[in-house]
Amino acid sequence: MTRRDEAQVLRVFRDDVQSMHAYAIQDSTGMLKLDAMENPHRLSPELQAELGSRLGAMALNRYPADQTNTLRRKLGEYASLPAGFDLMLGNGSDELISLLAMACDIPGASILAPEPGFVMYGMSAKLQGLGYVGVPLTADFELDGPAMLAAIEKHQPAIVYIAYPNNPTANLWDDEVIERIVQAAPGLVVFDEAYQPFASRSYIDRIARHSHVLLMRTMSKFGLAGVRIGYMIGPKAVIAQVDKVRPPYNISVLNCETALFALEHEAVFAQQAQQLREQRTWLQAALAEMPAVKSWPSDANMILVRVPDAAKTFEGLKSRGILIKNVSRMHPLLANCLRLTVGTAQENTQMMAALRDSL
Ligand code: PMP
Repeated sequence: MTRRDEAQVLRVFRDDVQSMHAYAIQDSTGMLKLDAMENPHRLSPELQAELGSRLGAMALNRYPADQTNTLRRKLGEYASLPAGFDLMLGNGSDELISLLAMACDIPGASILAPEPGFVMYGMSAKLQGLGYVGVPLTADFELDGPAMLAAIEKHQPAIVYIAYPNNPTANLWDDEVIERIVQAAPGLVVFDEAYQPFASRSYIDRIARHSHVLLMRTMSKFGLAGVRIGYMIGPKAVIAQVDKVRPPYNISVLNCETALFALEHEAVFAQQAQQLREQRTWLQAALAEMPAVKSWPSDANMILVRVPDAAKTFEGLKSRGILIKNVSRMHPLLANCLRLTVGTAQENTQMMAALRDSL
């Protein structure tokens, strides 16, 4: 048997894949983790034990079927699924974003999204060989209506993503501009409501007016980032097509059961979201008192700030044991910007003290 040369083996991979970087996850060992919009609260020891015994009693020898259907039904009730609409599950909304790109008509099809935005929209397009059109936001991170409409007219995208609210800018965009985009889009419009537990409004009440609009949510920001459950709501005929490219059994029974358990205890998570919204208000007030820091409005559990020297401040926080996200190289509009995740009162106090010392 001969061992083959590594370069010879890697030849099977696409050139663009070989030159890509894997999705970067920062090492957070021993750090206060305020970089990924996670809910800082764990389940109480009582709930953790109750969940443990439920998971321990499950039949793991069978493929998931009943649990996924039950979860789809319960999430449909939770989200007030309109008549004629269906709901599909993804292994996080990341998977749903990939599946949508996979199911799209190629060649020549493209995905369009405002920028800076969630990186997976562009990545999913690139990985499927679709075009990607990023339309810059204004300097204050509002939608540039005329630029969006012109880009839609020019590129006729298969999918337009509207993050509602957006990551990393944390804001909700103007609904009138959004309606014009929804009217102009020739393909699908996907509202990504990953941060819905912290937002002042949702598009859910308006989706039934349209036959080309989808709405995506995740249980990650709700408090189950480790569990990986995302869901997408849309007209039955549209969901049926996307569902064809979903790997069978994409959600484990353990994930499903945990999500069902969380929905039964929805009030616990709703209260945590409420606390985080209050903490966001506290953080915004504290940031407003720092003349060297500019911050923007937030409808999510993150706040985007601009500091005089992002690299210095990021490293300063890191050396004090606090991990946030330096987004300043993500997009030219984000020069010297940092993204702060809203934590508990104690975590936020600690982060603000470290921020003051790191400017
Ligand atoms: N959409 C947006 C706007 C996000 O910020 C994120 C995660 N940061 C996701 C989707 C993906 O979430 P998940 O895969 O955890 O469901």
